[in-house]
Amino acid sequence: MKDANKDVFSKIETAKGLYDRFAQALREIPGFCILLEDYRKEIGQSRCMMEELGLPEICSHCAVFVPGGGCCGTEIATWYDPFTLLINLFWGIDFPTRPYYKDSCLFLAKDGCMLMARYHFCVNYLCHRITSALSEEDLAKLTSQSGRELYIGWRLEVFLEEFFHSRGVFVGIMG
Ligand code: SF4
Repeated sequence: MKDANKDVFSKIETAKGLYDRFAQALREIPGFCILLEDYRKEIGQSRCMMEELGLPEICSHCAVFVPGGGCCGTEIATWYDPFTLLINLFWGIDFPTRPYYKDSCLFLAKDGCMLMARYHFCVNYLCHRITSALSEEDLAKLTSQSGRELYIGWRLEVFLEEFFHSRGVFVGIMG
């Protein structure tokens, strides 16, 4: 069977290479710094809301007790693109060299996801355990906050695409 994480490690190497070459130049662009900070704030808001609504307890149950990590399956890490991984590097995320839980996503750490910038599936997906535990009003608040987080993340990704394109660096972003 093909090792799905081989592709992930290759994308991590691409992201690290981009970071080494371009992080300084990016940090000197005010527009990039503002977007990065806005994104960090929205991710923080999302996390606060998830905690208020009790999601970490629900999600960590699956992460720890469900084989394959529940919705955090192995293949999901392969959907990540170098830009999303690059953004995580700006916040000092240190990617693992092997999965903590066998047969789970490479980015699933002992108590949950280790990433700050996450792929839209990871931000948006709500399993039936969550949807049945929350009121309609709370679900609406949560999806609206996820939308804000994903919107800023998308703007940052577009910024990075244009930045690298203007320097003749073409990065494959598809999984
Ligand atoms: S990236 Fe994080 S949230 Fe997404 S599947 Fe992996 S561990 Fe789960």
